[in-house]
Amino acid sequence: MPPASTTPAGAPATGAGSPAPVGGPGLPQERRLATEIPGPRSKEKMARRDRFVATGVSTTLPVFVEAAGGGVLVDVDGNSLIDLGSGIAVVGVGNAAPRVAERVAAQARAFTHTCFMVTPYDGYVDVCEQLSALTPGDHDKRSALLNSGAEAVENAVKVARAHTGRSAVAVVDHAYHGRTNLTMAMTAKSMPYKHSFGPFANEVYRAPMSYPFREPVPITGPAAADRAIDVLEKQVGAANLACLVIEPILGEGGFVVPADGFLPRLREWTAAHGIVLVADEIQTGFCRTGDWFACDHEGVVPDLITTAKGIAGGLPLAAVTGRAEIMDSVHVGGLGGTYGGNPVACAAALGAIETMREQDLPARARAIGTLVGERLRAIADRHACVGDVRGRGAMMAVEVVDEDGRSPHPVRAAAVSAYCHAHGVVTLTCGTYGNVLRFLPPLVISDALLTEAFDVVAEAFDATA
Ligand SMILES: *Cc1c(COP(=O)(O)O)cnc(C)c1O
Repeated sequence: MPPASTTPAGAPATGAGSPAPVGGPGLPQERRLATEIPGPRSKEKMARRDRFVATGVSTTLPVFVEAAGGGVLVDVDGNSLIDLGSGIAVVGVGNAAPRVAERVAAQARAFTHTCFMVTPYDGYVDVCEQLSALTPGDHDKRSALLNSGAEAVENAVKVARAHTGRSAVAVVDHAYHGRTNLTMAMTAKSMPYKHSFGPFANEVYRAPMSYPFREPVPITGPAAADRAIDVLEKQVGAANLACLVIEPILGEGGFVVPADGFLPRLREWTAAHGIVLVADEIQTGFCRTGDWFACDHEGVVPDLITTAKGIAGGLPLAAVTGRAEIMDSVHVGGLGGTYGGNPVACAAALGAIETMREQDLPARARAIGTLVGERLRAIADRHACVGDVRGRGAMMAVEVVDEDGRSPHPVRAAAVSAYCHAHGVVTLTCGTYGNVLRFLPPLVISDALLTEAFDVVAEAFDATA
């Protein structure tokens, strides 16, 4: 055996000897451009990335991050970028949030893994207790913890099938549920999520969504729900449906907020037919929309809820939570996985949830929604290419359209986004047509930074007009 100090051939050349960077809210909360974006060091690192990382794994903004916290990402060239993405709605509590970092460090020193299915530990049970308390409805609940959102959705379907003895799964147009085989079938959009990856899992059926901006004629929420119900009753049959899985506000599909009354009507219908209603709150959950969960807004109580992203301040953790009698219809050993509910990830979740409570992040998300909504409506007043401003809380978006006020204009959306990136603001796009600019700031971002970021977004619309 080689001596312990010998590094293997090709060991990382970076970072040796330099002090570990410190992130968190202590970072200067400022936009600072030290170089062009991306800077020279990021460019070098991208070239190395391309030599070792698979092409299929994409990069939105090619800057390498060294530290992050509050509302900023600091890159290896010394640029400080304002974060309007939160790593896709993950670090709502901020990056390297103190309560998360402290609990993770303590847990990593105590033990890093036993596998909960082999020997249990408190963190897992504590997270499940929190999920029982925080998710919609005051009925008796049980949870299972997993590693990723897609895995949570797969497990929700397994539970619904075991409970109902039925196999069909209903989803809606523009849905996004993940990239595993079953969740690819449930996800609507072909490119890039499904293209060339079939065949997909069967027994997945798609119903029309309520998409107020794109309805050919205005339609109320309950009428849109009846339209979806009609398709499912005629083409699948309520008696064959194990579950209806739906995001209360669509995430990757374009931040589509269904018309009022759409979800309550679906709740009534699924309850009447013994169909398990699964709310996929992986993107909307944990304070993002101004409530703990997006279902809370209309008082909809799903049977099962899937969570991930915002739950653990950046560590991989996901859950299915639901009615005890439904969750417990699965035989012993039927749910689980090697890493599901890893103790370090659970410690992170407990730190994140503590932060959300202490800082009342649902209220903070509502305040962000007010500020961002005003800024976006002001941009819409000056630019006809903004067809729709929508969202809730700290999950806001604009849909960018052509001169006709309707046709999707993904090229313009990409140009606005690219301008923001070049000027130190991290923005993301989404939507079936790729023409939606979405804004997902960390909930701990300051008003000053948010205001500056939307000054840049407004400039971006002017500059690309
Ligand atoms: C991100 C997302 C998923 C998939 O989560 P992963 O952790 O990427 O597997 C599923 N559903 C929704 C609504 C999401 O936003």
